[in-house]
Amino acid sequence: MSASVIDLLATEARFGANNYAPIGVVLSRGEGVWVWDTEGNRYLDCLSAYSAVSQGHCHPKILAAMVEQAHRLTLTSRAFHNDQLALFYEEIAALTGSHKVLPMNSGAEAVESAIKSVRKWGYEVKGVPDGEAEIIVCADNFHGRTLGVVGFSTDAETRGHFGPFAPGFKIIPFGDATALEQAITPNTVAFLVEPIQGEAGVIIPPAGYFTEVRELCTANNVMLVLDEIQTGLGRTGKLLAEQHEGIEADVTLLGKALSGGFYPVSAVLSNNDVLGTLRPGQHGSTFGGNPLACAVARAAMRVLVEEGMIENAATQGARFLQGLKDIRANTIREVRGRGLMLAVELHPEAGRARRYCEALQGKGILAKDTHEHTIRIAPPLVITSDQVDWALEQFATVLTQDFS
Ligand SMILES: *Cc1c(COP(=O)(O)O)cnc(C)c1O
Repeated sequence: MSASVIDLLATEARFGANNYAPIGVVLSRGEGVWVWDTEGNRYLDCLSAYSAVSQGHCHPKILAAMVEQAHRLTLTSRAFHNDQLALFYEEIAALTGSHKVLPMNSGAEAVESAIKSVRKWGYEVKGVPDGEAEIIVCADNFHGRTLGVVGFSTDAETRGHFGPFAPGFKIIPFGDATALEQAITPNTVAFLVEPIQGEAGVIIPPAGYFTEVRELCTANNVMLVLDEIQTGLGRTGKLLAEQHEGIEADVTLLGKALSGGFYPVSAVLSNNDVLGTLRPGQHGSTFGGNPLACAVARAAMRVLVEEGMIENAATQGARFLQGLKDIRANTIREVRGRGLMLAVELHPEAGRARRYCEALQGKGILAKDTHEHTIRIAPPLVITSDQVDWALEQFATVLTQDFS
Protein backbone atom coordinates (compact mmCIF):
# COMPACT_ATOMS: atom_id res chain seq x y z
CA MET A 1 0.00 0.00 0.00
CA SER A 2 1.27 3.47 -0.85
CA ALA A 3 1.78 6.17 1.77
CA SER A 4 -1.24 8.11 0.53
CA VAL A 5 -3.50 5.06 0.93
CA ILE A 6 -2.19 4.47 4.43
CA ASP A 7 -2.94 8.16 5.18
CA LEU A 8 -6.52 7.79 3.94
CA LEU A 9 -7.07 4.70 6.10
CA ALA A 10 -5.59 6.44 9.14
CA THR A 11 -7.76 9.52 8.60
CA GLU A 12 -10.88 7.38 8.29
CA ALA A 13 -9.99 5.54 11.46
CA ARG A 14 -9.33 8.79 13.31
CA PHE A 15 -12.52 10.67 12.45
CA GLY A 16 -15.04 8.05 11.43
CA ALA A 17 -17.52 6.27 13.68
CA ASN A 18 -16.12 2.78 13.76
CA ASN A 19 -19.28 0.98 12.60
CA TYR A 20 -17.73 -0.84 9.62
CA ALA A 21 -14.76 -3.14 9.13
CA PRO A 22 -14.07 -2.80 5.40
CA ILE A 23 -11.69 -4.97 3.42
CA GLY A 24 -8.43 -3.01 3.03
CA VAL A 25 -8.95 -1.59 -0.43
CA VAL A 26 -9.58 2.06 -1.30
CA LEU A 27 -11.64 2.34 -4.47
CA SER A 28 -11.63 5.37 -6.69
CA ARG A 29 -13.26 4.37 -10.00
CA GLY A 30 -15.80 1.94 -11.40
CA GLU A 31 -17.14 0.84 -14.77
CA GLY A 32 -19.54 -2.04 -15.40
CA VAL A 33 -18.51 -5.03 -13.28
CA TRP A 34 -15.09 -3.53 -12.55
CA VAL A 35 -13.74 -1.23 -9.86
CA TRP A 36 -10.24 0.19 -9.50
CA ASP A 37 -8.35 1.12 -6.36
CA THR A 38 -6.28 4.28 -5.95
CA GLU A 39 -3.21 2.39 -7.11
CA GLY A 40 -4.80 1.30 -10.36
CA ASN A 41 -5.48 -2.34 -9.43
CA ARG A 42 -8.63 -3.70 -11.02
CA TYR A 43 -11.21 -5.90 -9.26
CA LEU A 44 -14.35 -7.70 -10.30
CA ASP A 45 -17.05 -6.40 -7.95
CA CYS A 46 -18.84 -9.45 -6.53
CA LEU A 47 -20.85 -7.45 -4.01
CA SER A 48 -22.36 -4.66 -6.13
CA ALA A 49 -22.89 -2.56 -2.99
CA TYR A 50 -25.25 -5.25 -1.65
CA SER A 51 -27.10 -5.29 -5.00
CA ALA A 52 -27.48 -1.54 -5.36
CA VAL A 53 -25.17 -1.42 -8.39
CA SER A 54 -26.94 -4.20 -10.27
CA GLN A 55 -26.85 -2.22 -13.52
CA GLY A 56 -23.04 -1.98 -13.29
CA HIS A 57 -20.89 0.86 -12.03
CA CYS A 58 -21.48 4.29 -13.57
CA HIS A 59 -23.94 3.04 -16.17
CA PRO A 60 -23.69 5.68 -18.94
CA LYS A 61 -27.45 6.01 -19.49
CA ILE A 62 -28.26 6.42 -15.80
CA LEU A 63 -25.36 8.85 -15.51
CA ALA A 64 -26.67 10.89 -18.45
CA ALA A 65 -30.17 11.00 -16.94
CA MET A 66 -28.76 12.11 -13.61
CA VAL A 67 -26.56 14.84 -15.05
CA GLU A 68 -29.30 16.11 -17.33
CA GLN A 69 -31.80 16.27 -14.48
CA ALA A 70 -29.26 17.78 -12.08
CA HIS A 71 -28.83 20.68 -14.50
CA ARG A 72 -32.59 21.31 -14.60
CA LEU A 73 -34.10 20.69 -11.16
CA THR A 74 -33.06 18.55 -8.19
CA LEU A 75 -35.45 19.13 -5.31
CA THR A 76 -38.75 20.86 -4.82
CA SER A 77 -40.04 19.00 -1.75
CA ARG A 78 -43.50 17.52 -2.00
CA ALA A 79 -44.99 20.91 -1.16
CA PHE A 80 -45.08 21.36 -4.94
CA HIS A 81 -45.45 18.96 -7.85
CA ASN A 82 -42.46 18.15 -10.05
CA ASP A 83 -42.58 16.96 -13.65
CA GLN A 84 -40.71 13.67 -13.00
CA LEU A 85 -42.83 12.16 -10.23
CA ALA A 86 -45.88 11.21 -12.31
CA LEU A 87 -43.66 9.53 -14.91
CA PHE A 88 -41.79 7.63 -12.21
CA TYR A 89 -45.12 6.43 -10.72
CA GLU A 90 -46.44 5.38 -14.09
CA GLU A 91 -43.30 3.48 -15.06
CA ILE A 92 -42.70 1.68 -11.76
CA ALA A 93 -46.40 0.73 -11.54
CA ALA A 94 -46.34 -0.64 -15.09
CA LEU A 95 -43.10 -2.54 -14.48
CA THR A 96 -44.23 -4.17 -11.25
CA GLY A 97 -48.00 -4.30 -11.73
CA SER A 98 -48.70 -2.16 -8.64
CA HIS A 99 -51.54 0.26 -8.02
CA LYS A 100 -50.01 2.73 -5.59
CA VAL A 101 -46.49 3.98 -5.00
CA LEU A 102 -44.88 5.74 -2.05
CA PRO A 103 -41.42 7.10 -2.88
CA MET A 104 -38.80 7.21 -0.12
CA ASN A 105 -34.99 7.24 -0.04
CA SER A 106 -33.27 4.45 1.88
CA GLY A 107 -34.44 0.87 2.11
CA ALA A 108 -35.00 1.12 5.86
CA GLU A 109 -37.28 4.09 5.26
CA ALA A 110 -39.34 2.03 2.85
CA VAL A 111 -39.66 -0.68 5.54
CA GLU A 112 -40.66 1.87 8.18
CA SER A 113 -43.18 3.40 5.78
CA ALA A 114 -44.67 -0.03 5.06
CA ILE A 115 -44.99 -0.74 8.78
CA LYS A 116 -46.81 2.55 9.31
CA SER A 117 -49.06 1.93 6.32
CA VAL A 118 -50.08 -1.64 7.21
CA ARG A 119 -50.79 -0.62 10.79
CA LYS A 120 -53.02 2.21 9.56
CA TRP A 121 -54.70 -0.18 7.14
CA GLY A 122 -55.23 -2.58 10.03
CA TYR A 123 -57.02 0.04 12.15
CA GLU A 124 -58.99 1.75 9.39
CA VAL A 125 -59.82 -1.10 7.02
CA LYS A 126 -59.41 -4.41 8.83
CA GLY A 127 -60.87 -3.05 12.09
CA VAL A 128 -58.09 -3.96 14.54
CA PRO A 129 -58.54 -2.08 17.88
CA ASP A 130 -56.29 1.00 17.98
CA GLY A 131 -52.79 0.34 19.29
CA GLU A 132 -53.05 -3.45 19.04
CA ALA A 133 -51.80 -4.20 15.53
CA GLU A 134 -49.36 -7.07 15.28
CA ILE A 135 -46.82 -7.64 12.54
CA ILE A 136 -45.18 -11.02 12.11
CA VAL A 137 -41.53 -11.14 11.00
CA CYS A 138 -38.93 -13.89 10.63
CA ALA A 139 -35.90 -14.85 12.68
CA ASP A 140 -32.60 -13.85 11.07
CA ASN A 141 -34.35 -11.10 9.11
CA PHE A 142 -32.57 -8.07 7.76
CA HIS A 143 -34.73 -5.05 7.04
CA GLY A 144 -32.36 -2.16 7.76
CA ARG A 145 -30.86 -0.22 10.64
CA THR A 146 -33.46 2.22 11.96
CA LEU A 147 -34.68 1.89 15.51
CA GLY A 148 -38.07 0.50 14.53
CA VAL A 149 -36.47 -2.13 12.35
CA VAL A 150 -33.59 -3.27 14.59
CA GLY A 151 -36.16 -3.71 17.36
CA PHE A 152 -37.42 -6.88 15.64
CA SER A 153 -34.01 -8.17 14.56
CA THR A 154 -32.84 -11.41 16.17
CA ASP A 155 -29.16 -10.55 15.80
CA ALA A 156 -27.53 -9.61 19.10
CA GLU A 157 -24.99 -7.33 17.35
CA THR A 158 -27.76 -5.45 15.53
CA ARG A 159 -29.95 -4.91 18.61
CA GLY A 160 -27.46 -4.78 21.45
CA HIS A 161 -27.81 -1.69 23.70
CA PHE A 162 -30.07 0.17 21.28
CA GLY A 163 -33.32 -0.45 23.17
CA PRO A 164 -35.98 0.10 24.37
CA PHE A 165 -37.78 -1.01 21.24
CA ALA A 166 -41.29 -0.61 19.88
CA PRO A 167 -43.74 -3.43 20.63
CA GLY A 168 -46.07 -5.04 18.12
CA PHE A 169 -43.82 -7.59 16.40
CA LYS A 170 -43.86 -11.38 16.62
CA ILE A 171 -40.91 -13.42 15.42
CA ILE A 172 -41.29 -16.85 13.80
CA PRO A 173 -38.80 -19.13 12.00
CA PHE A 174 -38.21 -18.43 8.29
CA GLY A 175 -39.47 -21.06 5.87
CA ASP A 176 -42.04 -22.52 8.28
CA ALA A 177 -45.63 -21.94 7.12
CA THR A 178 -47.11 -23.77 10.12
CA ALA A 179 -45.37 -21.31 12.43
CA LEU A 180 -47.02 -18.48 10.50
CA GLU A 181 -50.41 -20.10 10.76
CA GLN A 182 -50.02 -20.46 14.53
CA ALA A 183 -48.77 -16.89 15.00
CA ILE A 184 -51.65 -15.17 13.22
CA THR A 185 -54.31 -13.64 15.47
CA PRO A 186 -57.28 -11.36 14.68
CA ASN A 187 -54.92 -8.41 15.34
CA THR A 188 -52.31 -9.49 12.80
CA VAL A 189 -52.08 -6.86 10.07
CA ALA A 190 -49.05 -8.04 8.12
CA PHE A 191 -46.36 -10.64 7.57
CA LEU A 192 -43.09 -8.90 6.65
CA VAL A 193 -40.53 -11.19 5.03
CA GLU A 194 -37.64 -11.36 2.55
CA PRO A 195 -38.23 -13.77 -0.36
CA ILE A 196 -34.63 -14.93 0.13
CA GLN A 197 -32.82 -13.89 3.31
CA GLY A 198 -29.81 -12.02 1.96
CA GLU A 199 -27.85 -10.80 4.95
CA ALA A 200 -28.54 -14.07 6.76
CA GLY A 201 -26.41 -15.75 4.07
CA VAL A 202 -28.66 -16.17 1.01
CA ILE A 203 -31.15 -18.49 2.69
CA ILE A 204 -33.69 -19.86 0.20
CA PRO A 205 -36.92 -21.14 1.77
CA PRO A 206 -38.33 -24.60 0.94
CA ALA A 207 -40.26 -24.93 -2.33
CA GLY A 208 -43.94 -24.20 -1.81
CA TYR A 209 -43.37 -22.06 1.29
CA PHE A 210 -44.54 -18.84 -0.30
CA THR A 211 -47.57 -20.49 -1.88
CA GLU A 212 -48.68 -21.50 1.61
CA VAL A 213 -47.76 -18.09 3.01
CA ARG A 214 -49.84 -16.40 0.33
CA GLU A 215 -52.83 -18.64 1.10
CA LEU A 216 -52.56 -18.05 4.85
CA CYS A 217 -52.32 -14.30 4.43
CA THR A 218 -55.29 -14.19 2.08
CA ALA A 219 -57.41 -16.46 4.28
CA ASN A 220 -56.72 -14.33 7.37
CA ASN A 221 -56.83 -10.88 5.74
CA VAL A 222 -53.16 -10.30 6.56
CA MET A 223 -51.06 -8.13 4.24
CA LEU A 224 -48.09 -10.00 2.77
CA VAL A 225 -45.23 -7.50 2.71
CA LEU A 226 -42.25 -8.72 0.68
CA ASP A 227 -38.99 -6.90 1.28
CA GLU A 228 -37.49 -7.14 -2.20
CA ILE A 229 -34.96 -4.40 -1.54
CA GLN A 230 -32.14 -6.87 -2.22
CA THR A 231 -33.89 -9.61 -4.23
CA GLY A 232 -35.89 -7.29 -6.47
CA LEU A 233 -35.17 -5.73 -9.85
CA GLY A 234 -33.62 -8.73 -11.52
CA ARG A 235 -31.13 -9.91 -8.92
CA THR A 236 -32.57 -13.44 -8.73
CA GLY A 237 -33.14 -13.78 -12.49
CA LYS A 238 -36.71 -12.49 -12.42
CA LEU A 239 -37.88 -8.91 -12.01
CA LEU A 240 -39.20 -9.77 -8.54
CA ALA A 241 -38.25 -12.85 -6.55
CA GLU A 242 -41.96 -13.46 -5.84
CA GLN A 243 -42.29 -14.53 -9.48
CA HIS A 244 -40.25 -17.67 -8.77
CA GLU A 245 -43.01 -18.64 -6.37
CA GLY A 246 -45.87 -17.65 -8.65
CA ILE A 247 -47.36 -15.34 -6.03
CA GLU A 248 -48.07 -11.64 -5.63
CA ALA A 249 -47.37 -9.67 -2.48
CA ASP A 250 -49.83 -7.08 -1.21
CA VAL A 251 -46.98 -4.71 -0.45
CA THR A 252 -43.56 -4.82 -2.15
CA LEU A 253 -40.51 -2.88 -1.03
CA LEU A 254 -37.83 -1.82 -3.49
CA GLY A 255 -34.62 0.12 -2.98
CA LYS A 256 -30.96 -0.47 -3.74
CA ALA A 257 -30.91 -1.15 -7.53
CA LEU A 258 -33.87 1.17 -8.02
CA SER A 259 -31.27 3.88 -8.60
CA GLY A 260 -28.51 1.73 -10.10
CA GLY A 261 -26.29 2.90 -7.27
CA PHE A 262 -26.35 6.59 -8.09
CA TYR A 263 -28.57 7.92 -5.37
CA PRO A 264 -30.72 6.55 -2.55
CA VAL A 265 -34.17 5.78 -3.98
CA SER A 266 -36.68 3.39 -2.44
CA ALA A 267 -40.37 2.74 -2.85
CA VAL A 268 -43.32 1.08 -1.18
CA LEU A 269 -45.63 -0.49 -3.77
CA SER A 270 -49.08 -1.72 -2.86
CA ASN A 271 -52.62 -2.38 -3.80
CA ASN A 272 -55.08 0.51 -3.42
CA ASP A 273 -56.13 -0.32 0.13
CA VAL A 274 -52.87 -0.09 2.05
CA LEU A 275 -51.26 3.10 0.72
CA GLY A 276 -54.75 4.46 0.15
CA THR A 277 -55.11 5.01 3.91
CA LEU A 278 -52.40 7.70 3.99
CA ARG A 279 -53.77 11.26 3.98
CA PRO A 280 -51.94 14.59 3.58
CA GLY A 281 -49.77 15.36 6.57
CA GLN A 282 -49.65 11.79 7.87
CA HIS A 283 -46.38 10.68 6.31
CA GLY A 284 -43.63 12.26 4.25
CA SER A 285 -40.02 12.82 3.34
CA THR A 286 -38.19 15.96 2.24
CA PHE A 287 -36.22 14.10 -0.42
CA GLY A 288 -38.69 11.31 -1.22
CA GLY A 289 -39.94 11.56 -4.81
CA ASN A 290 -37.64 14.41 -5.75
CA PRO A 291 -37.10 15.01 -9.47
CA LEU A 292 -33.45 13.91 -9.43
CA ALA A 293 -34.35 10.63 -7.71
CA CYS A 294 -37.24 10.06 -10.11
CA ALA A 295 -35.14 10.72 -13.21
CA VAL A 296 -32.38 8.41 -11.96
CA ALA A 297 -34.81 5.64 -11.02
CA ARG A 298 -36.59 5.89 -14.37
CA ALA A 299 -33.30 5.39 -16.20
CA ALA A 300 -32.24 2.62 -13.82
CA MET A 301 -35.47 0.67 -14.47
CA ARG A 302 -35.28 1.32 -18.21
CA VAL A 303 -31.76 -0.06 -18.72
CA LEU A 304 -32.54 -3.11 -16.60
CA VAL A 305 -35.25 -4.11 -19.08
CA GLU A 306 -33.86 -2.71 -22.35
CA GLU A 307 -30.44 -4.24 -21.89
CA GLY A 308 -31.74 -7.68 -20.91
CA MET A 309 -30.13 -7.62 -17.47
CA ILE A 310 -32.85 -9.71 -15.83
CA GLU A 311 -32.46 -12.56 -18.34
CA ASN A 312 -28.69 -12.22 -18.06
CA ALA A 313 -28.93 -12.62 -14.29
CA ALA A 314 -30.79 -15.90 -14.82
CA THR A 315 -28.31 -17.22 -17.41
CA GLN A 316 -25.09 -16.11 -15.74
CA GLY A 317 -26.44 -16.97 -12.31
CA ALA A 318 -27.02 -20.57 -13.39
CA ARG A 319 -23.52 -20.70 -14.89
CA PHE A 320 -21.94 -19.23 -11.75
CA LEU A 321 -23.86 -21.59 -9.45
CA GLN A 322 -22.95 -24.68 -11.46
CA GLY A 323 -19.32 -23.55 -11.63
CA LEU A 324 -19.19 -23.10 -7.87
CA LYS A 325 -20.77 -26.52 -7.35
CA ASP A 326 -18.13 -28.03 -9.61
CA ILE A 327 -15.30 -26.76 -7.41
CA ARG A 328 -14.02 -29.75 -5.45
CA ALA A 329 -12.72 -28.28 -2.22
CA ASN A 330 -13.11 -29.61 1.29
CA THR A 331 -13.42 -26.04 2.54
CA ILE A 332 -16.93 -25.83 1.01
CA ARG A 333 -19.94 -26.95 2.99
CA GLU A 334 -22.66 -25.73 0.68
CA VAL A 335 -23.17 -23.59 -2.40
CA ARG A 336 -26.55 -21.96 -2.94
CA GLY A 337 -28.14 -19.20 -4.93
CA ARG A 338 -30.79 -18.00 -7.28
CA GLY A 339 -29.88 -15.85 -10.24
CA LEU A 340 -26.89 -13.70 -9.33
CA MET A 341 -27.59 -13.87 -5.59
CA LEU A 342 -25.14 -16.57 -4.56
CA ALA A 343 -23.31 -17.79 -1.49
CA VAL A 344 -20.58 -20.24 -0.60
CA GLU A 345 -20.88 -21.52 2.94
CA LEU A 346 -17.59 -22.80 4.31
CA HIS A 347 -17.05 -25.60 6.77
CA PRO A 348 -16.44 -24.10 10.22
CA GLU A 349 -13.02 -25.84 10.27
CA ALA A 350 -12.06 -23.96 7.10
CA GLY A 351 -11.73 -20.78 9.16
CA ARG A 352 -13.46 -17.45 8.81
CA ALA A 353 -14.87 -16.38 5.46
CA ARG A 354 -13.12 -13.05 5.88
CA ARG A 355 -9.74 -14.69 5.18
CA TYR A 356 -11.04 -16.06 1.92
CA CYS A 357 -12.41 -12.66 0.92
CA GLU A 358 -9.00 -11.15 1.58
CA ALA A 359 -7.39 -13.89 -0.51
CA LEU A 360 -9.92 -13.22 -3.27
CA GLN A 361 -8.93 -9.55 -3.18
CA GLY A 362 -5.39 -10.66 -3.99
CA LYS A 363 -6.82 -12.43 -7.06
CA GLY A 364 -8.77 -9.39 -8.26
CA ILE A 365 -12.19 -10.23 -6.81
CA LEU A 366 -14.06 -8.22 -4.20
CA ALA A 367 -16.57 -10.29 -2.25
CA LYS A 368 -18.02 -9.94 1.21
CA ASP A 369 -18.21 -12.38 4.06
CA THR A 370 -21.38 -12.63 6.07
CA HIS A 371 -21.94 -14.45 9.36
CA GLU A 372 -18.39 -15.81 9.85
CA HIS A 373 -18.52 -18.70 7.42
CA THR A 374 -20.35 -17.51 4.32
CA ILE A 375 -19.00 -15.71 1.25
CA ARG A 376 -21.73 -13.85 -0.54
CA ILE A 377 -21.44 -13.38 -4.32
CA ALA A 378 -23.58 -10.80 -6.12
CA PRO A 379 -21.88 -9.26 -9.17
CA PRO A 380 -23.57 -6.64 -11.34
CA LEU A 381 -26.21 -8.16 -13.63
CA VAL A 382 -24.19 -7.13 -16.70
CA ILE A 383 -21.54 -9.79 -16.07
CA THR A 384 -20.56 -11.89 -19.14
CA SER A 385 -19.84 -15.63 -19.45
CA ASP A 386 -16.11 -14.95 -19.81
CA GLN A 387 -16.12 -12.85 -16.66
CA VAL A 388 -18.04 -15.56 -14.77
CA ASP A 389 -15.52 -18.17 -15.92
CA TRP A 390 -12.61 -15.98 -14.91
CA ALA A 391 -14.18 -15.36 -11.50
CA LEU A 392 -14.74 -19.10 -11.04
CA GLU A 393 -11.04 -19.76 -11.64
CA GLN A 394 -10.17 -17.30 -8.89
CA PHE A 395 -12.72 -18.84 -6.51
CA ALA A 396 -11.39 -22.32 -7.27
CA THR A 397 -7.83 -21.23 -6.51
CA VAL A 398 -8.74 -19.54 -3.25
CA LEU A 399 -11.18 -22.18 -1.99
CA THR A 400 -8.71 -25.00 -2.58
CA GLN A 401 -5.91 -23.07 -0.86
CA ASP A 402 -4.67 -24.42 2.44
CA PHE A 403 -4.69 -21.63 5.01
CA SER A 404 -3.72 -23.64 8.05
C1 LIG B 1 -30.26 -3.34 2.32
C2 LIG B 1 -31.56 -3.83 2.79
C3 LIG B 1 -32.43 -3.01 3.54
C4 LIG B 1 -32.05 -1.63 4.01
O1 LIG B 1 -31.73 -0.75 2.99
P1 LIG B 1 -30.91 0.60 3.35
O2 LIG B 1 -30.94 1.36 2.07
O3 LIG B 1 -29.54 0.18 3.77
O4 LIG B 1 -31.64 1.27 4.45
C5 LIG B 1 -33.66 -3.53 3.88
N1 LIG B 1 -34.01 -4.77 3.53
C6 LIG B 1 -33.22 -5.59 2.82
C7 LIG B 1 -33.68 -6.95 2.44
C8 LIG B 1 -31.95 -5.15 2.44
O5 LIG B 1 -31.13 -5.96 1.78
